[in-house]
Amino acid sequence: MRKLDTKTIVVASHNAGKIREIQDLIGPLGFAAKSAADLNFIEPDETGTTFEENAAIKALASARASGLPALSDDSGLVVDALGGDPGVYTANWAETADGTRDFAMAMQKVETALEKAGATSPESRTARFVSVLCLAWPDGHTELFRGEVEGTVVWPPRGTQGFGYDPVFQPEGYETTFGEMSAEQKHGWKPGDRQALSHRARAFKVFVETCLEA
Ligand code: IMP
Repeated sequence: MRKLDTKTIVVASHNAGKIREIQDLIGPLGFAAKSAADLNFIEPDETGTTFEENAAIKALASARASGLPALSDDSGLVVDALGGDPGVYTANWAETADGTRDFAMAMQKVETALEKAGATSPESRTARFVSVLCLAWPDGHTELFRGEVEGTVVWPPRGTQGFGYDPVFQPEGYETTFGEMSAEQKHGWKPGDRQALSHRARAFKVFVETCLEA
């Protein structure tokens, strides 16, 4: 396992919501990070079939293009009644004919599929958000960190905070969706006491424990 010995890294993402969340998480630890979007790096094709493979593709592309360590996130919503869909294809479910992303449409697609599957009770609508972070170095070395948060898909969507599918995801033990939580509540992350709620914050906690601490 390799330790990270610099505070200058690239956030290997073109997704504004994720970039903001990763910046929120690394900022308090003193990192200075530009994103792949800021640096105008080409967005690599996510040709993997697992979160791990796609996270590595993105982190390696940014590490090689920048000459710096790069941190990526590959994530998605895994819905039990849909056999794990949309899973690694969570972003694809939001794609429109003109190449933009429409998450109201994507959330509706999940709801339509759940109704078709007869999943109308809360117990039949269990799901988890998964995040795999990959830290890659320019020499091709990678470290992977996985975080998951269990919850339920709710309908109709609630809340306007966060991004993506946040308005339809209610984490276990909470009455509010991620869309109704502030960023601080969604991360549930405090560098001092190391709590974490979201899948991304949980993966980040593993990253800190693995690559930053002695
Ligand atoms: P990818 O990792 O770029 O392939 O895309 C992940 C997809 O999952 C995106 O469409 C996101 O909107 C969605 N997603 C990942 N994490 C979250 C989250 O924290 N909240 C809401 N949607 C998420």
